[in-house]
Amino acid sequence: MSYQVIVVGVGSMGAATCWRLARKGINVLGLEQGALPNPLASFAGATRAIRLSYTEHPDYVPLLRGAYRLWDELGEEAGDQFLVRTGAVYLGRKEGYMVGGALRAAVEHRLEHELLTSQELGERWPQFQVDEADVGLFEKEAGYVLSERAVGAMVQRALLAGAKLKGHVAVTDWRTEGDGVVVKTDQGDVRADRVVFTAGAWSGKVLEELKVPLKVTRQVLGWTWPQCPMDFTAEKFPVWVADAGDGAVHYGFPLTPDGSGGVGLKSARHFPALEVNPDRVVREALEGDEDEVRNGLRRFVPSGDGPLLSLRICLYTNTPDGHFVVDHHPECSHAVIACGFSGHGFKFAPVMGEALADLAVEGKTDWPIDFLGLSRFADA
Ligand SMILES: Cc1cc2nc3c(=O)[nH]c(=O)nc-3n(C[C@H](O)[C@H](O)[C@H](O)COP(=O)(O)OP(=O)(O)OC[C@H]3O[C@@H](n4cnc5c(N)ncnc54)[C@H](O)[C@@H]3O)c2cc1C
Repeated sequence: MSYQVIVVGVGSMGAATCWRLARKGINVLGLEQGALPNPLASFAGATRAIRLSYTEHPDYVPLLRGAYRLWDELGEEAGDQFLVRTGAVYLGRKEGYMVGGALRAAVEHRLEHELLTSQELGERWPQFQVDEADVGLFEKEAGYVLSERAVGAMVQRALLAGAKLKGHVAVTDWRTEGDGVVVKTDQGDVRADRVVFTAGAWSGKVLEELKVPLKVTRQVLGWTWPQCPMDFTAEKFPVWVADAGDGAVHYGFPLTPDGSGGVGLKSARHFPALEVNPDRVVREALEGDEDEVRNGLRRFVPSGDGPLLSLRICLYTNTPDGHFVVDHHPECSHAVIACGFSGHGFKFAPVMGEALADLAVEGKTDWPIDFLGLSRFADA
């Protein structure tokens, strides 16, 4: 049996690609090395922040507008809500990495936002503790996506639309053959016209030939129980991202009413983090993990620093410049690659799915993804 498209890795981007391809009536096979969905994939931990005033680069904003629309579309299709708009506040110095970047994107794309002094911030959200010289940029369109539920929905929608998806099948190699590809798995070879690689933290392994140094890091997520839980509901407390000014960035979420974001108040350190091998990473809590989470709370949200409920480990796959790789394979136009989502990719999953489906089927896409191409590494 031959397919039009094989998707290697049915995690965040792979599930979205299968969903968008199947909706177009494309004969797609998705192969996932773990369970489907895989609890060890990078969408684990219940929620992911979504924000429009994009610190990382203003060029992501048009993609984000598409992602917002498609998250809502997934919700409508599945009869559920995956994107929850709670607003988000970026904390730090006005010219610093987080606030400075968000402000640049907000101004360039005329996005609605409020810039608050530390005093105004304290009056509005006494839960935050910041330096007097810090400011807060508030964006009301931001919020979170229920990541595990959303991936489950994309997998299910893909299956219902006719995709063939297989869990516990590992892709070990691939090659071009004639006008198509042969994908080698631990359960035999499969043929297709096109292949899309969305292998997350394992991309360096399955695409060794790319030679883009992908650094996988071990990220610790924590849930605590605040002294006054009612101060942390989404009506009273937004998603937050705080620039500590020493190279560390911390972030957190409001309580979710039904615990769908994990029971308790979720927070974590965005970076720095420890480089690891995705096959050998310690997924259990290590000494120091709890402090990593608590340090962010102690500094920015002291009343959230209550008893620990749980810790979870997840992986970032970082490119050297922190921007994604979304492109055709440099040596094979039948293969499309999406990797290196550098700890901020989840919010884009449905729009990436659409762009990857276009690249695989049409050979091009109207989504503005040129800035994510592989050629930038050759130029460096
Ligand atoms: C702790 C944490 C917090 C984050 N916070 C945010 C946030 O707030 N906002 C945001 O937008 N993003 C966030 N991110 C980043 C985001 O979650 C990731 O960028 C995104 O999930 C990456 O998606 P992916 O499809 O590349 O990888 P994954 O979702 O990991 O999918 C890759 C899949 O490929 C499978 N696979 C790999 N190799 C093979 C093979 N050889 N054969 C078959 N299957 C294979 C894997 O098992 C996996 O299921 C966060 C990430 C982490 C870890």
